[in-house]
Amino acid sequence: MDPAVLAHARAARGFMPDDEGLALHEVGLRAGHSGLGPLLEIGTYCGKSALYLGSAARDTGAVLFSVDHHRGSEENGPGWEHHDASLVDARTGRTDTLPWARRALEDAGLEDHVVLVVGASATVAAAWAAPLALVFIDGGHGEEVASADYRLWGPKVAAGGYLAIHDVFPDPADGGRPPYEMYLDALASGRWVEEEPLGCGSLRVLRRAAGAPSP
Ligand code: SAH
Ligand code: MG
Repeated sequence: MDPAVLAHARAARGFMPDDEGLALHEVGLRAGHSGLGPLLEIGTYCGKSALYLGSAARDTGAVLFSVDHHRGSEENGPGWEHHDASLVDARTGRTDTLPWARRALEDAGLEDHVVLVVGASATVAAAWAAPLALVFIDGGHGEEVASADYRLWGPKVAAGGYLAIHDVFPDPADGGRPPYEMYLDALASGRWVEEEPLGCGSLRVLRRAAGAPSP
């Protein structure tokens, strides 16, 4: 990965350990090279994973769309981030991570390669028709939001394209269940094959089987 962008990715605020970010970057490169369509992530937050993926998009001539309403995740409940004034819009007292994401892309020089889509994942999915080379799911981790992300976005991955899921924890002691359940559902559906060597930490990477049954 381009060392200049990598330095920004490492310094960016977010929830993506460097080894997992580099693994995600590798998936992004493969997806970009596949020419199957753009890359899309759900859950921009402050843009950290968008830098790992956006760097891959830039280097393969692809585009990354990054979707987030920038209001924080419901399952964390109101006030979870409010100890940190830098993530709050002083005018309204509401979480707003969009300025951080914008700045991260600007500083890393990726504004021409990453498109921020500001809105609820389900709303964007309902209007989204383009086949995707990669969907990276790292949005709301509550049961309903996570399963909706899988249900709504999974079918938009082109045959041969990738589905990456973050925060997959087989052991409940390590984290919440919904991403793990999403991963199990995907494997059980017969539509996806795990690309095990591409996974890292809590990142799991699946590939849409050719001729997979439609949803
Ligand atoms: N990928 C980021 C972390 C994402 S944190 C990184 O690497 O740092 C999860 C994000 O999902 C939060 O920013 C939250 O605002 C967003 N989110 C949660 N539920 C959402 C929904 N229903 N629609 C859009 N974004 C959502
Ligand atoms: Mg995550």
